[in-house]
Amino acid sequence: MSGTSPLVVTVDRARCIGSGLCARTAPADLALAPDGRATPARPATAASAELTEAAEMCPVEAIAVRDAATGALVAPAW
Ligand code: SF4
Repeated sequence: MSGTSPLVVTVDRARCIGSGLCARTAPADLALAPDGRATPARPATAASAELTEAAEMCPVEAIAVRDAATGALVAPAW
């Protein structure tokens, strides 16, 4: 991971099953919306272990973390 580049978090809300795992793991970056599905908590963020973990633990792979400048996928790592 490059470290200093801003990152953008997206959630495929059609896939999200509202488990809340991501919001518990990375509350600075992911929150549950009133409809019970996750949504990014802020328009841009920075790399963190919590954010990577949240993206990788989502049971339906609904979370993507990308480099804001290049669009390269940063997490999940598969
Ligand atoms: S971990 Fe995945 S399924 Fe669970 S609330 Fe977050 S985005 Fe939705």
